[in-house]
Order: sequence, then structure tokens, then C-alpha cells
Amino acid sequence: MTNERGKRALERLRKIKPFIQASLSFTKKRCGNPRCRCAQEGPLHEVALLTWKEENRTRTLYVPIEFRREVDKWVQEGKLLKRLVAEVSQAQREFLTSKKKSRKSKKG
Ligand SMILES: [Zn+2]
Repeated sequence: MTNERGKRALERLRKIKPFIQASLSFTKKRCGNPRCRCAQEGPLHEVALLTWKEENRTRTLYVPIEFRREVDKWVQEGKLLKRLVAEVSQAQREFLTSKKKSRKSKKG
């Protein structure tokens, strides 16, 4: 029981791919190897970090270079999921509102 807006959002929800509700950020670091070029002049190594909130604490997780593009897709999908959840909720509210209106108009 939904409307057109809800149907469209649910259709997309069914195709949801692996997702993660977190954000991906990049920073530059020394790797810690004293013989690496980064220990003296650089350049530093680019590091990808996943950050998210858990029980009001910010948590971070290192993302290996080979998974960056994939993890970025999960993050995008997580954002899409959040939008779709809001979209379906809005559609259901509209559905109820329209029923209330049509009932009133039938009575009047
Ligand atoms: Zn290094």
C-alpha cells in the first residue's frame, strides 16, 4: 500500500547493492619505515580512512588502496539508501494524507 512516489523508491531499494553508512576521507602519512623515501623528503603516502559514528564516538578504519574505489561505491550506496528510506517515509505520509482528504471530500 503506497503511491507512485513510494513505488519508485521501493523499486530502487530492491536493487540496492552492498553499502556502508560512513564517509571516506584521505590524508597523507609517513608509513613508519625509516628506509622509505617518506621518512626524509617525501612524498608522503596517501591513506584512505573510513569514519563513522558509533554510540556518539567517531570511529575510523584504514582502507587498503586496492579497496578504495569499491568502498567509495559502498559509501555512495549508503547515501542513496538513506535518501530512499526518507523518500518511502515521505510517500507513506502522503499516502495517509491523501486518504484522509478523499474521505473528507466523500463525506462533504
Ligand atoms: Zn613510506
